[in-house]
Amino acid sequence: MMDQPLLISELIRHAERYHADTEIVSRLPDAGGAIHRSNWGEVARRSRQVANALSALGLGPQAMVGTLAWNTHRHLELYYGVSGSQRVLHTINPRLFPEQICWIINHAEDAVVFFDVTFASLVDGLVAGGCPTVKHWVALTSADKLPAMKHVQPLAYEELVSAASADYSWPSFDEREAGSLCYTSGTTGNPKGVLYSHRSTVLHAYGTCMPDVMGLSARDVVLPVVPMFHVNAWGIPYSAAAIGAKLVMPGAGLDGPSLYELFESEKVSFSAGVPTVWLGLLQHLQKNNLHFSRPWNSIVGGSACPPALMRAYRDGYGVKIRHAWGMSEMSPLGTVCTLKEKHLKLSAEEQFAIELKQGRPVFGVDMRIVDQNGQPLPHDGKAFGDLQVRGPWVVQRYFKLDKDPLQDGWFPTGDVGTIDPDGYLQITDRSKDVIKSGGEWISSIDLENVAVAHPAVQEAAVIGVHHPKWDERPLLVVVRKPGAELGAAELIAHFEGKIAKWWTPDDVVFVEEIPHTATGKISKLQLRQQYKDYQLP
Ligand code: ADP
Repeated sequence: MMDQPLLISELIRHAERYHADTEIVSRLPDAGGAIHRSNWGEVARRSRQVANALSALGLGPQAMVGTLAWNTHRHLELYYGVSGSQRVLHTINPRLFPEQICWIINHAEDAVVFFDVTFASLVDGLVAGGCPTVKHWVALTSADKLPAMKHVQPLAYEELVSAASADYSWPSFDEREAGSLCYTSGTTGNPKGVLYSHRSTVLHAYGTCMPDVMGLSARDVVLPVVPMFHVNAWGIPYSAAAIGAKLVMPGAGLDGPSLYELFESEKVSFSAGVPTVWLGLLQHLQKNNLHFSRPWNSIVGGSACPPALMRAYRDGYGVKIRHAWGMSEMSPLGTVCTLKEKHLKLSAEEQFAIELKQGRPVFGVDMRIVDQNGQPLPHDGKAFGDLQVRGPWVVQRYFKLDKDPLQDGWFPTGDVGTIDPDGYLQITDRSKDVIKSGGEWISSIDLENVAVAHPAVQEAAVIGVHHPKWDERPLLVVVRKPGAELGAAELIAHFEGKIAKWWTPDDVVFVEEIPHTATGKISKLQLRQQYKDYQLP
């Protein structure tokens, strides 16, 4: 067989050749959310101009190119223009603290950073804070819309692109070279970089398109709500090019009303995002009594999706939200929950019970659970242990860190879970979030799922707080729905019969807001700090 390297540029080359007129629609962050229409042909042409523009800026092979950007056609052009030309695309999460962003840019040694104008003041602060490796800051806009900045005079992306020729041949090189870089949010210690190779990215793109994974096709209209700075929007910019799907890029508008408008105007058929965004959209739907004119599917991941949320979309709107699990270290897809043929004869509720699990591994990912001594545990759906994974799109070593993170050739995920005989993974918890009460474990996820099923609860988090006798006991932190009345005793009573009695939270605190991380997950770390001296009754 031909020995042809699996390169990211092959994806855009394919999309240009066979899907040139398939649309890429974006909400523009530099034009008040106005809609911009492009297509795969134009994105391909402009990504070649990006490649030439980077050469004009003096960037050689393997140079690091940072982005602080929303999901737009411009960011997509950078995905291909940077990686395709043998440079490394470093997507930075703008929701991190500025000190963390500065640390990441310096650690990666970014030579140029492209940013959306919404992040102009953030960038000003970064420049003042010191990013010595960055030679150029480029605002993703045209010269007439350049933001006024104190510490730097940015270049304008549109001028940079139009000054460059589209005449460019994608270079061929070793598929194991780096194509992109993401940092984990670093809830403990400094963030860690994961360097994705061209090979791992292309294999992941093949994997994600499969029917039991995202099941994408050239008939799909895909709206990635998950940002392109959160593990490459779960690979959608690559898989959409591989199969020629239409892309709808939401820009900075991730709120319910903005998303709903795009779903309707573009007739979206597939989406992906963390539970929080689906919660926001649901509230908008319920409040305004809205429905969708085209049925759509979605995958939800990043944290456990409450059953109540999946049910609300299924029953109220005909929307199928599939559970998916993964992490930055896995490019990110590990499992997606779809049924097997033998499940089709089960009742709807029995099927739903399976669909609440995190799902079966995508071909390309193998997984196992082990005990504290690293001994494999049975896949019987009961034994739970530390989850380990391996495969061609799983990290081998962190960027610039010598320490080998693997155990016995497997990557330890930091998650605890069970695997049933059919291969379905169920995450019990993150190992640091599991509540250790009297030597036994309590799953905070299970308790949160019960809490958010209460009609007056908008969001809930459970953390372990110190207990003199049991070591730790669960404390439930709750945001009530606007206008709802709910007391602690009523909420505690709601747990009865739904979980083992000794799992029942010891206390409830009602708050206005629960803190979230830069990737939109509940920040258990912050909650634990906030309630570290909490006295349980
Ligand atoms: P971070 O949140 O640290 O930035 P990731 O975005 O890579 O890193 O998150 C990976 C982690 O998110 C997983 O290890 C797991 O704990 C959690 N996670 C992801 N998907 C799910 C899911 N479907 N159910 C439960 N937990 C999930």
